Amino acid sequence: MTYPRFHNLIGGKWLPAIGGKTMLNLNPANNRDVVGEFPASGAEDVAKAVSAAKKAFATWRLVPAPKRAKILQRAGYLLSVRKEEYARDMTREMGKVLAETLGDVQEAIDEAFYVAGEGRRLFGQTTPSELQNKFAMSVRMPLGVVGLITPWNFPMAIPSWKLFPALVCGNTCVIKPAEDTPLSTYNLVQALIEAGLPPGVVNIVFGLGPDAGAPLVEHPDVRAISFTGSSEVGSLVAQRAAANFKPVSLEMGGKNAQIVLDDANLELALDGALWGGFGTTGQRCTATSRILLQKGIAAKFISRFVARTKKLSVGNGLEKGVDVGPQVNAAQIETSKKYVAIALAEGAKLLAGGHPLTKGAYAKGTFFEPTILGSVTPTMRIAREEVFGPVVSLLEFDTFEHAIQIANSIDYGLSTALYTKDVNRAFTAIRDLEAGITYINAPTIGAEVHLPFGGVKQTGNGHREGLGAIDFYTTWKSVYVDFSDKLQRAQIDNAE
Ligand code: NAD
Repeated sequence: MTYPRFHNLIGGKWLPAIGGKTMLNLNPANNRDVVGEFPASGAEDVAKAVSAAKKAFATWRLVPAPKRAKILQRAGYLLSVRKEEYARDMTREMGKVLAETLGDVQEAIDEAFYVAGEGRRLFGQTTPSELQNKFAMSVRMPLGVVGLITPWNFPMAIPSWKLFPALVCGNTCVIKPAEDTPLSTYNLVQALIEAGLPPGVVNIVFGLGPDAGAPLVEHPDVRAISFTGSSEVGSLVAQRAAANFKPVSLEMGGKNAQIVLDDANLELALDGALWGGFGTTGQRCTATSRILLQKGIAAKFISRFVARTKKLSVGNGLEKGVDVGPQVNAAQIETSKKYVAIALAEGAKLLAGGHPLTKGAYAKGTFFEPTILGSVTPTMRIAREEVFGPVVSLLEFDTFEHAIQIANSIDYGLSTALYTKDVNRAFTAIRDLEAGITYINAPTIGAEVHLPFGGVKQTGNGHREGLGAIDFYTTWKSVYVDFSDKLQRAQIDNAE
């Protein structure tokens, strides 16, 4: 079979894995279509990449931030020129429909221009000193080499959320992309290289999590780790990094609720539920996986939601008219199947879908029917655990207060949505929902790059992408300049 062969990027050179191992990147809509062969790297490749990044840091940190930002700006232009090509590559490697992969590339473009602006900010503070003839200020300093570990569901947007702010702050990077989506990271970094990024400033190590991700977390020269992925792996990453007191930014799973009150615009709530539940085949950290319906509208909502879900067209995301692409791989199909079985055993009712699609045009891919489970109660596993597939649970409630309580009764806290025309309830929900993001009259998905992105509880550990990323990728230095020409002792010489 002929397909392109890709290599790791280390110190500006494209190199195979030292151990010689490779892995295939397959199209989930047609597993006979090999997108490419990529290195399956190990600790020795990571060590080389970290050493190259460390060397590059010595000069990159001294490049003025506005100049670093110019490279991001040029990369943004290159991405916009290649938007359709890169989106097609992305649909081929992970399945979501073309309109959505175009959006994924657009997010990286938006991030490039947003973060490029930071090159002329990166503000610190000046403040009075308590002593005479002494000047006090704080400045942001880069951390050094940062390790970035990313998932497959937003394979260009998420690497851009990490790489661009890390770079503008003066750090050098080693990125380990998800094994299912190496090509989109390759494309993103290609744009950076052509935009003028010096060798060694960004290094890519392709490979499996335990083989290539874990050594990156543990490497003593890696000063910080930014991880997006599952809460299970995030917990491992945090524990390993803690042994070296390494800062870690964790963005993890979700079990996001859309609440629909009796007074809501029902058609709008239905549009939101379909898009939030089945967009990206339900494989978004912010996907709507629980819909909480007030009893007055529940029956009407359910019958319309089921009817519209059954009309969704499932297929290859590159084909016109397809609403829902494949799941990314066979393991994700197994997870969807497993959770439908668990839900039914616990008393939920299957209202639509529920099965893998395996016949005809679906035979070579990993497709799952858009699925709705009714009669779900808050204590069932399907109401509490992340599926990461096209599986939506419906729960019913009497009062607004009860809806907030159900929405908050889980371990995750990423995104929430409320549909209502009651402004008082909208603001009460904004205050009381335990989540990093709350939408009013809009679905749980649709974040914009210039706001903080992240969650609470088991979704995150307090850091944010977007607005807030600069805080993670810099450390503060406080600077005191004494121009009194004598020893001045703080807290002592000026004591009253
Ligand atoms: P995952 O946790 O399986 O993998 C994420 C990354 O971690 C991959 O690159 C993987 O190779 C790597 N990895 C795996 N084991 C590792 C180890 N032992 N040490 C170091 N790295 C390791 O997640 P996934 O399946 O790629 O993505 C889906 C998950 O990501 C979902 O839970 C989803 O909610 C979450 N996610 C969260 C956000 C967010 O911003 N909150 C965004 C997208 C996805």
